[in-house]
Amino acid sequence: MKKLPGIFNDVIGPVMRGPSSSHTAASWRIARIALDILNEPLKQALIEFDHNGAWAPNYREQGTTMGFDGGLSGLEITDERMKSASSYALQKGIVVEYLVSTFPADHPNTARLTLRGMSGKTVQIIAVSLGGGSFEIRSVNEFPVRLNGDLYGVIIFTRNKKDITDELKRQVPPGVGFSSGQQDDRIKYEFKSSHPFPPDLMSLLQKHPVIDDTAVINPIMPVIAGRETEMPFTTISSLLAYAGEKDADLGDLGLIYEKCISGNSAEELNARMMEIIHIIHSSIGKGLKGTQYADRILPQQSHLIRKAEKEDRIRESVVNRIIENVSALMESKSAMEVIVAAPTAGSCGTLGGTLKAISDNIGSSDEELVKAYFAAGIVGAYFAQGPGFSAEEHGCQVECGAASGMAAAGMVQLMGGNAKQAIDAASMAIQNMIGLICDPVADRVEVPCLGKNISAAVNAYASAIMSVSGYDAVIPLDQVIQTVSVVGKTMPSCVRCTGKGGLAVTETALKIKNKLGEL
Ligand code: SF4
Repeated sequence: MKKLPGIFNDVIGPVMRGPSSSHTAASWRIARIALDILNEPLKQALIEFDHNGAWAPNYREQGTTMGFDGGLSGLEITDERMKSASSYALQKGIVVEYLVSTFPADHPNTARLTLRGMSGKTVQIIAVSLGGGSFEIRSVNEFPVRLNGDLYGVIIFTRNKKDITDELKRQVPPGVGFSSGQQDDRIKYEFKSSHPFPPDLMSLLQKHPVIDDTAVINPIMPVIAGRETEMPFTTISSLLAYAGEKDADLGDLGLIYEKCISGNSAEELNARMMEIIHIIHSSIGKGLKGTQYADRILPQQSHLIRKAEKEDRIRESVVNRIIENVSALMESKSAMEVIVAAPTAGSCGTLGGTLKAISDNIGSSDEELVKAYFAAGIVGAYFAQGPGFSAEEHGCQVECGAASGMAAAGMVQLMGGNAKQAIDAASMAIQNMIGLICDPVADRVEVPCLGKNISAAVNAYASAIMSVSGYDAVIPLDQVIQTVSVVGKTMPSCVRCTGKGGLAVTETALKIKNKLGEL
């Protein structure tokens, strides 16, 4: 059965520092799992990017090196020291080198890591970033694997030793997956589980005469896989039918969806969402106070809206608050402060900025705000089942476009609309963002990203108003999401986050890039 995306694992989150979730958060997560696989202190790492891939031209500017350096040094991604992760790695005596080279890769965001530990042991890993901080480790020491950071794992490699597959199979406890594979004189044994491994199994592996190195992999995603329960709806139309039967709104359905994905209780999930909301509001507060970061195109601008209101140049309005909040979130992101990717770091302003503005405007309670985030989350989960959130594959329509649909649904929920109105608002909002290219100036996620987040947010607000007022979305959300995938496939690679097309190659953009390169 195909694994369904989760709201916390794939849509709202990660909580992170860095300009881009597909670059910084995914590379940090890959690095942390890679350290577990190496299973000894790291001395040296070589990180290679495929020369035909999307990471090759901009891995430094978009924060991939920040993610790898921080992860390989053992830093948490929210640690203040992530801002200078490469210096921290050097201080710890870890040498991390980066290289653009050629190796087989079937995804634009592929990296090959070769880690050398203190004892001279080496591990080679091929991993891909799937957008929004999700990733997959696809090979370890040339053995195919599938590691997404949402399970406990044990990996054992032996060379020139007898095959103990049958013996290990007999020892595998219920609920633990086991596989093995052989290449020449090398054998890989792999265990996977939704729960920590029983001490009996670990002690058997550690004492076994044929095994001399047992790498234990700890999950890195917020929600552990394999604890799913049956979902009462599948498609968007079955979700709407269920909403009608149960008189449930989209916030209720988002919570039910995440309960079924995670096996967690409603109380746990509501508390986790409230934590996320607090982080988003704190990022807005930090942005409005003013943020500094040297390697940045834009100065602080989020304060200019209030200033213009005070000077009677513009009238106060909820749209002003949306613009101000979205700007503050984007400024926090560009200053490497802690933010929540929703669904990506590049589009982190849209959802949080709109939901705070509308909830402040109408005086929503915390519970209502939590429900609005679950309503937004389930729209994102359906989007993730379609094209996903990788701008390197589908352009900005899957970052700001997806965020706009999520925000529209969340706002309808806050306004007291029903599930159909929330889904229709998401449909309308995404319809208006189809075809949006990804062309960040100087490979920084600022220009035109700030404007795109603001237009996605205001578009979401308009779509929410239209839907609650009774406008017809005409095209159902599932067909709109499918269209995003189809259009993404026709988009040339120069406008899919490679910095080789769109505004990124204007005369002004090239001047900015040269200027920042001199810093
Ligand atoms: S243009 Fe859109 S997709 Fe591209 S970096 Fe900016 S926000 Fe992300």
